[in-house]
Amino acid sequence: MKSPKRVLLLGAGGMGMAPLALYLQGAGIQVEAYDDRFSEPLRTNLEKAGINVLCEPTPIMNPDCVIRSSAIPQDSKLVKPWLALDVPVFRRGEFLARFTSKKKVLAVVGSHGKTTTVGMLCWALRQVDFSCSYLIGGVYADSQFPPGHFEKNNWLVLEIDESDGTIEFFKPTITLALNCEWDHVDFYDSRESIEETFKQLFARTTSNIITPIGSELSRWAELEKGKKKSNFEINCDLAHYYDNNLAAVLAAGDALGVDLSEVNFEEFPGIARRQSILHQGENRSIIEDYAHHPTEIHAFLSQRRLLLPAHSLQVVFQPHRFSRTQALAEKFAEELAQADDLHLLPTYAAFEKFDPSGSVENLIGYLPPRLRKRTNVFSDFSQLCDVLGVCPDHKHRDQVLFVGAGDLEKWAHAFAAWEKTGGQKLEAFSYYLSDKLSVKTLLKGYEPLAKKTTIGVGGLARWYAEPGNSEDLRSLVEACNLFNIPRAMMGRGSNLIVPDDGFGGLVIRLRGNFWNEITYRSENSLVVGAGAKLKEICRFACSEGLKGFEFLEGIPGTLGGALRMNAGAMGWETFDLVEWVSFLLPDGTIKEIPGTDLNVGYRYCREAFDGIALRAKLKSEGKSDHRAIRKVIDKLAKKRRASQPKEASAGCIFRNPEEVSAGWLIEQSGLKGECEGGAVVSDQHANFILNQGGATADDVISLINRVRERIRESNGLILEPEVTLMGKSWNEYLS
Ligand code: FAD
Repeated sequence: MKSPKRVLLLGAGGMGMAPLALYLQGAGIQVEAYDDRFSEPLRTNLEKAGINVLCEPTPIMNPDCVIRSSAIPQDSKLVKPWLALDVPVFRRGEFLARFTSKKKVLAVVGSHGKTTTVGMLCWALRQVDFSCSYLIGGVYADSQFPPGHFEKNNWLVLEIDESDGTIEFFKPTITLALNCEWDHVDFYDSRESIEETFKQLFARTTSNIITPIGSELSRWAELEKGKKKSNFEINCDLAHYYDNNLAAVLAAGDALGVDLSEVNFEEFPGIARRQSILHQGENRSIIEDYAHHPTEIHAFLSQRRLLLPAHSLQVVFQPHRFSRTQALAEKFAEELAQADDLHLLPTYAAFEKFDPSGSVENLIGYLPPRLRKRTNVFSDFSQLCDVLGVCPDHKHRDQVLFVGAGDLEKWAHAFAAWEKTGGQKLEAFSYYLSDKLSVKTLLKGYEPLAKKTTIGVGGLARWYAEPGNSEDLRSLVEACNLFNIPRAMMGRGSNLIVPDDGFGGLVIRLRGNFWNEITYRSENSLVVGAGAKLKEICRFACSEGLKGFEFLEGIPGTLGGALRMNAGAMGWETFDLVEWVSFLLPDGTIKEIPGTDLNVGYRYCREAFDGIALRAKLKSEGKSDHRAIRKVIDKLAKKRRASQPKEASAGCIFRNPEEVSAGWLIEQSGLKGECEGGAVVSDQHANFILNQGGATADDVISLINRVRERIRESNGLILEPEVTLMGKSWNEYLS
């Protein structure tokens, strides 16, 4: 295969794709990596390696080829545009096999333990300065060791994944096979079909085959004439998991002619999510493991039982895929029966459609009656905390095991944080986030907010964050969801009143380069980040000769705030410009919604109440000479200067009732100049309340109530606030 110069990776946040990105970048190929989910520190590691990490599937350069993760099907809307352009699109495994076909490949395969084995082997080879390229299918627990690495010499150590069939493209020099069991039942319809796949790999292996002593695998290897065979010892059962890995690593070292006998494997940092001890207290240990096949569950649970026989075994299990759960339900139940109490999370779908026969409710039917009574199904993290309690005493010692390959990882880490902070959720929140945010994100406690608003009143935020990118934003939102912490968005704070007692949850502000982008797109449109200032958008559009943005000039907010408020002036509204908005939804997914599908009205956009606006595509009314546009802007600015006060305010306080403006009503009622503490109704525009200096939120709210009362008395009309109240409903404050 001719080496590409530029590649685009789709689904690059996955455990197979990210190491490949690092490997290719190391090989001198320019890599752009897209995913709608990247975890930390993986994302930072990719960026540090010089990879362009994309939050939209639109690369900056034209790729020579596209590599997609198996989770992204060929007919996905992410792939189709490249096929239409005749850009070759490969599945990860297929590309890798072709790209490395001239290398000497040591392949590690097996149904269980291959990531740990490859990780251990590559780490051990580094300890003895044996240089080789490698790709593993997970990340090291210590992020200073990258999961993918390129060396110019000819050796490549590779974990080969059998789950999607791309194993058939590989012809390794050496194959180390650990075990073979029926799994990936969506792809392999029987035990025989997966066995056949391993046998064929042995047939394509050119030099050595390494298998466990006395195993079926070794018998299949014996059928391969003219190839060197070697074996490694296995202990009687998989409870000696690491011993097996070690045996395999030593055998592989032997095949490479490298002596690993002096390596101190006690120092092996381990692979993330593999028997990871998240907390070790006197009476409670919290451990997570990736086990998602009955054999792996057997190994993990029995090993933990042996280690701490007097601690009750609390198992939190999330099945992975409906197809596997359905096909192996009986076996899962048999192994889970080792638990004293079982806590189930709904099956992790991994792109499969819901199938009741693969649900946890169905799995419960296979459990022994004793355990069935001691089994809970949870969808809310706080329920688990309630059931398990915090810091058990020596009479109730337990080990809480989080088992599965889905997203229960978050629960495991959240539970460890909760335990370590003695069940204080606001403390646990920041503890949990401490290793989940990139250095670009700011997270502070007890942050004063008044100066971040244009009216300058209000108290502190218990937590305040400026996320450095959308992934960190998502981590913040997920942490709020896990710990039931309220969150509130803040833009420029120009239509926002912060109560004097502040906000007891997390305030998020989209500030910094990541959120400020304004880029020119085809069809005379702009793609704009939610943190961009409206004034900047207006200025940029004018310089590009784009009409229709002029009314934004004097509105002192950000795009995020303008979308939530559907801000408008002089007869135009923000949503007149919107083609689509991309939102982070409360469940953590990112969705691009066309403007026509959004629920928008006078000073509101429904979707922005719970969702967070991330960016939007804004279309112009067409092209014009920038001098003509500037003239319109100047005219509108002059009008605004004449009608609006310059002093500190939060913009219009009340929504205009139908057919009459709130400002006119207030003025007619003689309320201009009315004051409460440091707050006063503006003389220039009666719908503005000004902070004359030293005003509190209570002053502003009292004045709002007085104005409302007087209008009700004089006109029978009830004015509703336009300005938002952080984290509170106006109903709590209005008389
Ligand atoms: P903020 O005031 O910080 O927040 C407003 C609301 O938006 C809050 O509920 C907040 O939670 C939410 N929010 C913020 N960012 C996001 C996000 N990314 N996703 C979801 N929700 C979010 N308004 C007009 O419509 N027309 C005017 O002509 C006008 N003139 C003004 C003049 C002055 C002097 C002042 C002080 C204000 C004026 N305003 C006007 C009000 C205000 O500027 C607009 O409503 C502006 O759009 C608010 O943007 P912001 O970034 O300041 O939002």
